[in-house]
Amino acid sequence: MKIDIPNNIAEIIPYPPGKPLEELEREYGITDSIKLASNENAWGPSPAAVEAISGVLTGLHRYPDGSSHYLTEALARWLEADMEEIVLGNGSNEVIEFLVKAFVRAGDEVITSHPSFLMYQKFVQVRGGNNIVIPLREMHHDLAAIGRAVNEKTRLIFLDNPNNPCGTLISRQSFDDFLRSLPESVIVVLDEAYVDFVDQEKRIDVKAYIRNPEGIPAVVALRTFSKAFGLAGLRVGFGLMHREIAGILHRVRQPFNINLPGQVGALAAIRDLDHYQRTLEGTREGRRWLSREVERLGCVPYPSHTNFFLIDVRGDATALYEAMLHKGVIVRSMKAYGYPDFIRITVGTEAENTRFIGALAGCLADLGYT
Ligand SMILES: *Cc1c(COP(=O)(O)O)cnc(C)c1O
Repeated sequence: MKIDIPNNIAEIIPYPPGKPLEELEREYGITDSIKLASNENAWGPSPAAVEAISGVLTGLHRYPDGSSHYLTEALARWLEADMEEIVLGNGSNEVIEFLVKAFVRAGDEVITSHPSFLMYQKFVQVRGGNNIVIPLREMHHDLAAIGRAVNEKTRLIFLDNPNNPCGTLISRQSFDDFLRSLPESVIVVLDEAYVDFVDQEKRIDVKAYIRNPEGIPAVVALRTFSKAFGLAGLRVGFGLMHREIAGILHRVRQPFNINLPGQVGALAAIRDLDHYQRTLEGTREGRRWLSREVERLGCVPYPSHTNFFLIDVRGDATALYEAMLHKGVIVRSMKAYGYPDFIRITVGTEAENTRFIGALAGCLADLGYT
């Protein structure tokens, strides 16, 4: 075999192939582990979604509807948007990929923050584009520095709002000022994977920008069924954008990118807002309780507008991560993100949160951190 690998592909660091939970448990000799590492929904999928999916399994020999008509229609109603303003993806990750595919040529520039969601940069690398990476400032997107980095090669700006891993938010006013300072040639992508957890009055009115695009750059909002809706395994997300941009993204989209279970499951989930509301309430309560308990143990919890938050453990986070793993509690060390003393945890159920606090107390004592 003698293949010629393009440089931009050879340079990509593959997404760390996380082990299945079962393998991890075998390796560490643990059982009943709990995973608070990936910001998933602790309360599971909506039962209505599960039922709807079960109902279509005998139809799997057919291709799904390539336009995801009913799901798009229901989403449009829920968002009070038009169907033509919505593009569905195999997870919102795929919509990120559509945007990069459609708008970034080799040599073009895309601006992201660091730390931030890692997938933006990956897709840009695949495309041979240049990533311009701006450090967060006090855990917030540094909009001033991002604005200064914009030039005639800039195609896209990705802002996860709230930011992952910090859970911080861009204020409405600073976003508006930022937008109005930019040339109209760029597209500003607001990744709103966690917007469901954000207080209503703090959310950016994306639709207003999409509907009144005169004099400002285009805004695209990304949403997902993976977090508040509890359907991460189903892979359904979507973007909300001006219909002209949606039309362009449809050109690079595979016709059957949303599979049949995905279409009916997501549709049932937005009709089951009870489960959604329970998730939001449980998350709020859990976050409050966890923050208090973490503080009691001498750590510093950071405020967050999401279902996860950062904790300053006042010691090496990776050692703590390992120690927690031995107790069957999986969290995320933030060392690779540039916060060597921080872990990130996802809010779990009451039982999971209690177990986390117990394990944390034990590990902090064992490691002599507090
Ligand atoms: C979890 C997450 C997503 C969701 O991606 P999907 O492909 O929809 O599962 C997107 N953006 C951020 C910042 C996330 O944390």
